[in-house]
Amino acid sequence: MTGGAFNPFAQQQRPKRSHEPKAVQAHLVGDISLPTPSRIFAAMGDYVIGQERARRTLSVAVYNHYKRAIASLRRDAGDTPPVEIAKSNILMLGPTGSGKTLMAQTLARLLNVPIALSDATTLTAAGFVGEDVETILHKLISAAEGDVERAQLGIIYVDEVDKLAHKPGYSTTRDAGGEGVQQALLTILEGKTATVPPLGGKTNILQQNIVMDTSNILFICGGAFVGLTDIVRERLEESGVSVEGLTEDDLLDRVQPQDLYRFGLIPEFVGRIPIVSHTEELGDTDMVRILTEPKNALVKQYQYLFSFEGVEDEFTPEALEAIAQRTLERGTGARGLRSICEDVLRDTMYEVPDRSDVARVVVTREAVMEEATPTLVLRDAAPQDA
Ligand code: ADP
Repeated sequence: MTGGAFNPFAQQQRPKRSHEPKAVQAHLVGDISLPTPSRIFAAMGDYVIGQERARRTLSVAVYNHYKRAIASLRRDAGDTPPVEIAKSNILMLGPTGSGKTLMAQTLARLLNVPIALSDATTLTAAGFVGEDVETILHKLISAAEGDVERAQLGIIYVDEVDKLAHKPGYSTTRDAGGEGVQQALLTILEGKTATVPPLGGKTNILQQNIVMDTSNILFICGGAFVGLTDIVRERLEESGVSVEGLTEDDLLDRVQPQDLYRFGLIPEFVGRIPIVSHTEELGDTDMVRILTEPKNALVKQYQYLFSFEGVEDEFTPEALEAIAQRTLERGTGARGLRSICEDVLRDTMYEVPDRSDVARVVVTREAVMEEATPTLVLRDAAPQDA
């Protein structure tokens, strides 16, 4: 997304003030407008269903992060801030497919900043064969279409950081080891300057080494952290706190740095991601809402696709429930919704473009659960199975 193309907060932009340094105007008025946390929260809700707690935490953290970025740009332009604002990198715990990556992507989109998505399991410690952490910075520069200054205000999402946990006495097959990668990530989390080398290949956006300041990049680290609640429960019990009636969510709310150390993250790493939040497991009502409510909901996408043929597409309420149910059985969160819908509609999407007699496609419960074909309603005729 290029600067200024998508900006739902235009009315929120601060008025240009003549005494403001140019750099601040260019970045923070032209390119990044700073909506308030409640606006970020509400705008995220157009794309993300539920997860209110995580959205709230993220909204505040992001708002403060970009205030900090403003302060640092002002400092570069000669102003002396009265106090140094600490960095608010974020750790997002929560089950797979519950919207962690989606929230990071949505934030980048709303704030109109570039984002790089990366997976901790593909990274290796410096000196080992594999992707090193500079690759992430490279991705961010690419997302900013080569504009390094813009990349320096971007977001980096690192998924699966829980897989970097150092497990005592457990020999991993990863030669570089998770702990080495935590150390390597620290170098960019700490906000130092990093040298980003060209990665080779004709389409490479960088032709030479680029020195990049990572101090204003917002890092969001995500992971499922299976087993972490047991560690929290044990700690609470050891300190005499009653854990009776506490749900998994309640336990995740009480995560402390020492729980993360016990899980296997090194203290220096935990220290650099001070804001901890978590997503909740999605239930069947959430799944149905995800299918229908977001601005780019799957049902809306299929309806739009069929509209090219002048065909209406309808999912009965029972079909939506059935898709939710099948998705939950897969245990991959909302990620599973798309492939189930694709399975259900594949043959119909193959056939309909060649037919001019179809007025409407109705996805029924049977089509989802019994692999029957969706019902085709013909123009001026009675319903018929495909
Ligand atoms: P993870 O928590 O593993 O990072 P993702 O954010 O990648 O999960 O979710 C995968 C997909 O599932 C998203 O691209 C989106 O389509 C859907 N999804 C997951 N959670 C939500 C949610 N809370 N609201 C709307 N869609 C969601």
